[in-house]
Amino acid sequence: MITIDNYLDSHYIHRSNWLRAAVLGANDGIISISSLAIGVAAASSTREPIVLATVAGLVAGALSMAAGEYVSVSSQADTETADLARERDELATQPEHELEELTGIYIQRGLTKRLAKQVAAQLTAHDALAAHARDELGIIEAMTARPIQAALASAGTFAVGAALPLLITFFASTANIVPFVAATSLIFLALLGGLAAKVGGANLWIGTGRVALWGALAMLATASVGSLFGVVVT
Ligand SMILES: [Zn+2]
Repeated sequence: MITIDNYLDSHYIHRSNWLRAAVLGANDGIISISSLAIGVAAASSTREPIVLATVAGLVAGALSMAAGEYVSVSSQADTETADLARERDELATQPEHELEELTGIYIQRGLTKRLAKQVAAQLTAHDALAAHARDELGIIEAMTARPIQAALASAGTFAVGAALPLLITFFASTANIVPFVAATSLIFLALLGGLAAKVGGANLWIGTGRVALWGALAMLATASVGSLFGVVVT
């Protein structure tokens, strides 16, 4: 059973992949949608266009994150499938050469020649493709590409991040939308940065400051664009 204690006890690398994707997705959601909301709010004196732009941004952002993740992870999955098919073929057509190759990998990792031969022979007898996939190609079951999960996770975390500024545009008074969105977004970005740093074993303050700084810059840029255009949207 995974408890918080043995989870925090596990190596950082084991827990960083999905966390990094989740934090990146949420960061993206907060930064891009709060900046969008602030940009429109800086140019608009009524709520409707701000809410409309924020909702449209959330939907568009979540879908583009999903599409981007799906395409990139699918091409990774295609590469893995092609590599495994070639490996399967090589194991069928030149098993001696493959056994030597595997032995060589274990010798390089520090085993004596005799022990490396034994390990390679036993792992080959047990599951040759799995041994080559793991030790030659670096394809580990737990890390294999899952495009749909990745796309859903990415869209979901983006939407969760984006929901924060969206809620503010619904409930804050129009005059307070800019400061409220800016303040709450920076607080959440700092929390996310701190969480990612804590779980990833990095320096807490650097992790927090880095994310909050970029968030602040993005919101400042869109606020200036919005007020620069000073377009009154009724
Ligand atoms: Zn091989």
